[in-house]
Amino acid sequence: MRSNQIKAVHQRDLKKLLKSLKVYDAVTNHTRNCFFCNEIICERTISAVFPYGDTVCFCCENHQCSRRLLDLSKEDDGGG
Ligand SMILES: [Zn+2]
Repeated sequence: MRSNQIKAVHQRDLKKLLKSLKVYDAVTNHTRNCFFCNEIICERTISAVFPYGDTVCFCCENHQCSRRLLDLSKEDDGGG
């Protein structure tokens, strides 16, 4: 079963979302990284939050990362 929902969030809702995912402290303490480029994530640089396995992952505002996030959200259909 898949539950790979990707949430793009607005800053305003971000805090609420992060708290609900219990990662707000981790983010504000700069202990989380972008899933793709490994940049340290902070409240300002998060562009998306998504579950991956048992963990909550983050995507930074980097364009390349956003693209890779989109790729990840697609079932692979052979495009490259
Ligand atoms: Zn990134």
